Amino acid sequence: MDGGGTRDHGSVVDLELDRAHSARMYDYFLGGITNFPADREAAGRAMAAFPSVLIAARGNRAFMHRSTRHLARSGITQFLDIGTGIPTSPNLHEVAQAVSPRARVIYTDNDPIVLAHARALLRSHPEGSTAYMQADVTDPGALLEHPVLRSTFDFGAPIALSLNALLHFITDRHDAHGIVERLKAALPSGSTLTISHVTPDFDPEAIARLTAVYEAAGTPGQARTLDEIAAFFAGWDLLEPGLTPVLRWRPDPDEPHLNVTDAEAALYAGIARKP
Ligand code: SAH
Repeated sequence: MDGGGTRDHGSVVDLELDRAHSARMYDYFLGGITNFPADREAAGRAMAAFPSVLIAARGNRAFMHRSTRHLARSGITQFLDIGTGIPTSPNLHEVAQAVSPRARVIYTDNDPIVLAHARALLRSHPEGSTAYMQADVTDPGALLEHPVLRSTFDFGAPIALSLNALLHFITDRHDAHGIVERLKAALPSGSTLTISHVTPDFDPEAIARLTAVYEAAGTPGQARTLDEIAAFFAGWDLLEPGLTPVLRWRPDPDEPHLNVTDAEAALYAGIARKP
């Protein structure tokens, strides 16, 4: 079938297999199999523009593991992950529920390919729960009113919101900072915001080339500086060690050491808590 399709509540959704999608390119970088020729061609151009993109993707994924573990150990049991991506084990709920089996996790993405594979995200520990909701972060009002969110979470208890490798796909044209403020305002005190984000700070030419590849593939993006990324956390308290190059955020001595520079990883990462 031209373009491919998946069923969503009885209607056929176009997966647009003839064009590259960021979720499927990322899946390819991580060694996944949920990607198609158009994705692999664009991913190949991204690798030519920025040869360490594979290792950057792995570094980002390792940050998701460390940050989730840290938050679960700190006692948070509700996790809202926006821009989840195609399932890649371990997924966030596996990391959280390994620490806290009763953790409740809601996954969100706007790409129908993620919905098509969401079953893999829903194998919760029996004591906890996982849910998936198809939503677009550029419409935060609809996302926050989603019945799955309202019925799954207790808004009287802290919620860990994660926007990992998402916000560089939300340009200022979409008012990325305004969107994040809307999400932050909906969360109770003690909630946390986790962000990882591509930056041009270390190697601006390479990141300009990478951004151009995504733009040409139909996925406009915006790498941001340290100050621009720090502004997403405005009014909240950054946890130690602050907003850092992704590999330096609480490195785990038990994890394999990625032998790359900050310029090769090209991401900042951090977590802040709502006062
Ligand atoms: N968070 C995962 C995956 C990052 S890839 C990780 O860090 O490992 C970025 C994901 O963001 C993709 O799955 C893409 O489909 C999703 N995404 C991009 N724009 C989005 C939007 N407007 N709303 C929701 N998700 C979006």
